[in-house]
Amino acid sequence: MNTPNLSAVQRLARPTPGHTDRLALAVSRLREATAAHGPRIVQATSLGAEDMVITDLIARHALPIAVATLDTGALHAQTLALVPRIESRYGISVQRWAPAPQAVVTFVARHGERSMYDGVAQRKACCALRKLEPLARMLAGRSAWVTGLRREQSAARAEVAPQELDEAGRVKLNPLAEWSEADVWHYIGTHGVPYNELHDAFYPSIGCAPCTRAVSAGEDARAGRWWWEQGGAQECGLHVRPAAGEPRRKEEVAA
Ligand code: SF4
Repeated sequence: MNTPNLSAVQRLARPTPGHTDRLALAVSRLREATAAHGPRIVQATSLGAEDMVITDLIARHALPIAVATLDTGALHAQTLALVPRIESRYGISVQRWAPAPQAVVTFVARHGERSMYDGVAQRKACCALRKLEPLARMLAGRSAWVTGLRREQSAARAEVAPQELDEAGRVKLNPLAEWSEADVWHYIGTHGVPYNELHDAFYPSIGCAPCTRAVSAGEDARAGRWWWEQGGAQECGLHVRPAAGEPRRKEEVAA
């Protein structure tokens, strides 16, 4: 059973053997990527706990990595509220990439506000509009992007590599690939990193409001995403990995 009245830090932060080494490795990966890609690297932050750790590392180590997020138009107020907190805390500007307003109006007029519940295809069409398209613009001209993917987050992410190539041949850096949930929250607690208050309300993974719910004790961290879809990878595509031997698909999006 979930324990109410405890913050996510109180519930989840725990020092574990090897944390210091994993932290040093994450910083070293960010440094090496910065040296290799210069101004062509961007952190695509979902504003989730893992991405907040990475933003803190970028700022703390003065790494010249741009910080950008997808503003889908369907985010929780608590998620949007994090942007000015980040900017104030770190003295940086967070780029916000949004879908084309008219395209959203046309889509909603044709399919309704709740079409994501009508089937996987309808849900993916919404993700393509609100996430994929602005992500493509965010990554245009970039040679590398940084994400907060961790292997432990779900079965679909169990083989996440610290560095991979996306379909466009860009480097996708996952510097926290081997981190545990305890690692993430230990870092956040130790360094006072700002985080989305929905994490305190048992939302381990936070996306758009219509597609995110709280989870119960013992549920997979991604169980609160697209929970009505059975047997899926609980991804909207951004981080879906092709099967062995399959070519990478054109960037599908998830966060
Ligand atoms: S997560 Fe939900 S609301 Fe957000 S883009 Fe995908 S289907 Fe649309």
